Amino acid sequence: MGAENKLSFEFNPIVRGMKIADSNSLFPIHRVFCVGKNYAEHAKEMGSEIEKKEPFFFSKVPESITQVKKILIPEDTANLHHEVELVICLKKGGMNINVNAAHQCIFGYAVGVDLTKRDIQKKSKDKGHPWESAKSFDQSGPISEIKKYEEVVLKNNNISLLINGEEKQSASINMMVWGIEELISILSQKVILKPGDILFTGTPAGVGNIKKGDILEASIDEVGALKLNFE
Ligand code: MN
Repeated sequence: MGAENKLSFEFNPIVRGMKIADSNSLFPIHRVFCVGKNYAEHAKEMGSEIEKKEPFFFSKVPESITQVKKILIPEDTANLHHEVELVICLKKGGMNINVNAAHQCIFGYAVGVDLTKRDIQKKSKDKGHPWESAKSFDQSGPISEIKKYEEVVLKNNNISLLINGEEKQSASINMMVWGIEELISILSQKVILKPGDILFTGTPAGVGNIKKGDILEASIDEVGALKLNFE
């Protein structure tokens, strides 16, 4: 210890706190991880196949995560896509977490939308460039209130998304290729997971375009619902 104890932050660190259902406390967001293809039908619509050997992860900046109801469509895309996903929120981390112990790390779940600039993603893929900028931008990961682990039973829960009242995505979360505990365990072999880390678990088929003026409604049975206006 010693001199280090006297040091203080030059300015306040930015911590993004997210609302928890039926609670007065906030969940502090640390890092945001996402799984690429985790529903076979979505992989197919993207012109590829599920990678059975190992799931594929990418990240979003913490600034992606928001609970505001109005989302501004960025000016640099002509094809913003919706991807409804179950989001796992961790209260405990570690490395090389055993599948059977992974549930002990879970604080709760939320409904999330992995907003994606599909045109920019495609351009980047074609050029062999990283497609981070298509996925990781402000407000690119709106989520519902977080529901505590103890209050949710996950089994064959329906996951769905409507645009202007019309159903675009609908599936059961048991269609995920990699399960919740498996994803936590595998991710913990790559990074040292920390409390506050969250994980988007992939989207079912039916992704599509969002335009200014659209109303998006996303829900997962037992977990919650999310209604967003796009401007
Ligand atoms: Mn996604």
